[in-house]
Parts: sequence; structure tokens; C-alpha cells
Amino acid sequence: MDKISYPVKGSCRCGKLEITLAAPPVLTAACHCRGCQKMSSSAFSLTAMCKSDSFRVVRGTPVKGGAQGPELDHFFCPDCKTWMFTRITGMDDFVNVRPTLFDQKSLATPFIETMTSEKLPWVSIPAQHSFTGFPDVDDFMKLLDDFRQTQDQQGSRRG
Ligand SMILES: [Zn+2]
Ligand SMILES: [Zn+2]
Repeated sequence: MDKISYPVKGSCRCGKLEITLAAPPVLTAACHCRGCQKMSSSAFSLTAMCKSDSFRVVRGTPVKGGAQGPELDHFFCPDCKTWMFTRITGMDDFVNVRPTLFDQKSLATPFIETMTSEKLPWVSIPAQHSFTGFPDVDDFMKLLDDFRQTQDQQGSRRG
């Protein structure tokens, strides 16, 4: 994986909505829950959990869609309806961005997978940590540490 230089750019399918990310994600994940299967029209969703202050919509105005509130809001391109990012109520410091929108493919590599209890039987992905549900708070803090170390190693290997 090449070392990424920030900020990175991303866009929806039609290109009318553009986003930037100024700092590395704090965690990447795949979610196998039924909701993500339906919203992505695919086997699982991909997430890069990012610090809110590092993430910006720089072009276009996203609209809410999918399952709306109260615990989370999903945002889409108003034109092509690409699922762009998700904000979880009470976790205002973070935003869950769909990492396949970014130009850098390596941002989409899932470090953990969640909700494997609802996983499609043929799916197997190289996530380093698996959860049948979602990680609890203690697990979550450890995962952030582990993920940061993985990122640091990738950076230093390249000198
Ligand atoms: Zn679009
Ligand atoms: Zn899910």
C-alpha cells in the first residue's frame, strides 16, 4: 500500500458532489448487516471512520436518505443518489465516509468487519478483527490504537 498524502479527494458516481479528507481515517470497517446490504445493494458496506474536522463536502449539497434518524443520518448525492457518508447522533466528532469514493483505493481496505451474524454465506474478506455484532466501547478504543499502529508501520516502512 502506497503512503497516502493528504488531503485526498473523492466524489460520487456522477461527480456533482465532491469531498475531501485532510487526515487519515481513525478506523476502516466492513459491515455485513442487512441494512447495509440493502443500502449498498451489495454484500456489505465499507466505512472509513474519519474525524469530522478533517472531512468536508467541497462541492454540491448532500441530501438525507436511507433509514433516516433518530440514531443516524445517511447522506447521498441529490443527483446520482450515491451513498456518501453517515453521521451517528451523539458521535459528532466522527463521520463514517464510504471510502470507495476516494481516489486512493487503499482507504477502502477494511481493518475490521461487523455484524458477521448477518453475513452472506459466501463472503470472506481479509479484515483483521471480526465481530458478530458491533465492538463494545473497550474493544473500540483498542481497535483505534491497533489501526493507528498499522498505519504508522505502513508509513515508516517507506521511510
Ligand atoms: Zn452524484
Ligand atoms: Zn451495517
